[in-house]
Amino acid sequence: MKILVVNAGSSSLKYQLIDMNGEKVLAKGLCERIGIDGKISHKTADGRTYAEQIPMPDHTAAFKCVEKALISGEAKAIDSLADISAVGHRIVQGGATFSKSVLVDEQVISEIERLADLAPLHNLAHVQGIRACRECFGTEVPEVVVFDTSFHATMPPTSYLYALPYEYYEKYKIRRYGFHGTSHRYVTGHYFKITGAPVEGSRLITCHLGNGASITAVKDGKCYDTSMGLTPLDGFMMGTRTGTLDPSIITYIMEKENPTAKELSDLCNKKSGMLGISGVSSDNRDIEAAAAAGNARAKLALAMQRYQIAKFIGQYMAALDGADTIIFTGGIGENSDNLRRVVCGHFGYVGLKLDDELNKKMIRGAEGVISTPDSAIKVMVIPTNEELMIARDTKEIVEKL
Ligand code: ADP
Repeated sequence: MKILVVNAGSSSLKYQLIDMNGEKVLAKGLCERIGIDGKISHKTADGRTYAEQIPMPDHTAAFKCVEKALISGEAKAIDSLADISAVGHRIVQGGATFSKSVLVDEQVISEIERLADLAPLHNLAHVQGIRACRECFGTEVPEVVVFDTSFHATMPPTSYLYALPYEYYEKYKIRRYGFHGTSHRYVTGHYFKITGAPVEGSRLITCHLGNGASITAVKDGKCYDTSMGLTPLDGFMMGTRTGTLDPSIITYIMEKENPTAKELSDLCNKKSGMLGISGVSSDNRDIEAAAAAGNARAKLALAMQRYQIAKFIGQYMAALDGADTIIFTGGIGENSDNLRRVVCGHFGYVGLKLDDELNKKMIRGAEGVISTPDSAIKVMVIPTNEELMIARDTKEIVEKL
């Protein structure tokens, strides 16, 4: 069974074609600048590539380009679209409605549209992606939606409520939803698979550290608490996002500079975090390089980032009454041995011992344990694979049809 995994953004469309027989990626690619001009870059598993600038006025046009890349030319991966059994879509916000992945129908599309109120940039783009996909494939090809929020649906109210007057939760559904759920779910499932550890009674802390980043407390294999909130801005500092702020900072800036809501949102989402503090870049590699060259603000940004991550892990140790394993994933979690060393260095007091050699080796897609055998808490690096998780959910749902 071949499954196309789609992640549609407002001006981009990422895709992967996965053969579920062996779970192999056959081809992947990216359409960019949809609605502006248009560019596709496509690559097959055996390294053939295709890239072209083609006008993409909308997502339907982008899908046509994906179709062309997949079935024709030098870098084709299949003979016709009929070889694709199903499509799985990544959806950011599933609100309180979707606690698991579901088959797409008109009612599901309307509900994702309705939830756009909580994630306007993402959900409307996903709906455009679903509709464009239906135009391209026809409604007879089953489509499944997989939500970033659904893994977090098991949180208790003590984790998901904000201390606003309760009617704000009732009226507007203002609460913690959490994001990156597909990644946290993937590494959690993979952990149980490779270690054989019992799910019941387990206490994991999963750290997804990429441009966006979140940490989740996982109890008995289920999400108990997570750092992202109503939106992916909550938690600790990220590439360009503030993470949690004292809300009075916002009202104070409003009084000083009279910004619009959009300007404030841009300030917190796009100009802050590692970029805001370092003044160098939002990219961890650039900041690590600048710090190594002596840049004081880059050093400060890294120190803040590591300290904030350690504080979240500490919170979740309290929430879970200890932890069996801490898992690092995402571009930074999988590659920055320096970050892992500094963060884990905060937990010597509970008997966590990192193996420095193993830690240095566990980069670029390597998977394994980086703590010593006598460490009180196991520390692991598990590369995430959100696309595979989406494909697996899609297969499971489609096979039952
Ligand atoms: P996204 O959230 O966009 O999916 P990724 O999970 O790909 O992001 O993570 C991107 C981040 O990973 C960037 O900040 C990048 O600098 C960082 N990263 C990638 N490789 C390394 C490395 N070798 N050392 C430190 N950071 C790295």
